[in-house]
Amino acid sequence: QAKGQGRGTCCYFNAEMQSVAEHKLKLEQDLSHAIGAGQLKLLYQPLINAADQSLVGFEALIRWHHPTRGVVPPTEFIPLAEETGLIMNLGDWVIEEACRAASQWPENISVAVNLSARQLVLPALPATVNAALSRYRVQANRLELEVTESVFLEDTAGSLDVLKRLRALGVGIALDDFGTGYSSLGYLNKAVFHKLKIDGSFVREAAGNRETVAIIQSIVQLAKSFRMTVTAEGVETADDFTRMRDLGCHQIQGYLFGRPMEFERASELVHGTQNRLSA
Ligand code: C2E
Ligand code: MG
Ligand code: MG
Ligand code: MG
Repeated sequence: QAKGQGRGTCCYFNAEMQSVAEHKLKLEQDLSHAIGAGQLKLLYQPLINAADQSLVGFEALIRWHHPTRGVVPPTEFIPLAEETGLIMNLGDWVIEEACRAASQWPENISVAVNLSARQLVLPALPATVNAALSRYRVQANRLELEVTESVFLEDTAGSLDVLKRLRALGVGIALDDFGTGYSSLGYLNKAVFHKLKIDGSFVREAAGNRETVAIIQSIVQLAKSFRMTVTAEGVETADDFTRMRDLGCHQIQGYLFGRPMEFERASELVHGTQNRLSA
């Protein structure tokens, strides 16, 4: 059958497939030790108030410092963790670590954490989140959980119930990466999301595309009618910033205001004499 794809790539194709599978298996084994070995780390990317450019919080983004491969990006190992079920332990670690960071920062600074759809299938998640909040004495409204619309693709009823119970704890729930995938406007009406994050690819596409601008404009208006906070992700240029601010986005995130950074640098930003970041 591989032969049917032509150009006599049959054997090469099989060998490559095997090496990809081996690579994946090795990475999976390594990942199962990564938490215990202290190889996982959270970086923190600033979230900025569009109106006055003040710091409102951070999004925690995971990195894996692999002993021989160097830094492995989450786009490479989160899918593996999801497949193997390791995401449950990994996800708990992220929640714990983000609450610990939040406990070191003032009460007006929020911390956002990404959740995989698979984590929402576990009914115990709200209890885990609540325990981490109490352990570090962090107010629930300082924690935001980011999910993508993929949570609605599997086990819709169960996931929605877990989201509602998380919301009842007082934590924020953000719909991440909006503008990619299906981006059904119906998701905004689920009564669980307090925030909508417009995906960076969509934000940057707006630079040269009036149709995209018009679509973003309607999304922002609709989100506001549901009293949601709107964040623009992936803001890289001053033009991106003014465009998204003028379209009504409340918050801005992107390389223009800061890349994901180590906890210590994030703390410097928090405690800096001026929390007005320069663009
Ligand atoms: P995300 O949650 O949408 O995070 C935003 C991604 O965009 C991050 O990539 C961030 O570094 C990147 N980014 C931020 N500003 C800019 C910009 O101005 N330009 C560009 N080109 N990119 C920007 P990162 O850190 O590689 O994370 C990728 C994805 O991995 C995240 O997308 C999230 O879905 C997932 N992820 C990260 N950490 C975790 C985690 O702890 N748990 C889970 N389940 N997923 C995670
Ligand atoms: Mg996110
Ligand atoms: Mg995103
Ligand atoms: Mg993303």
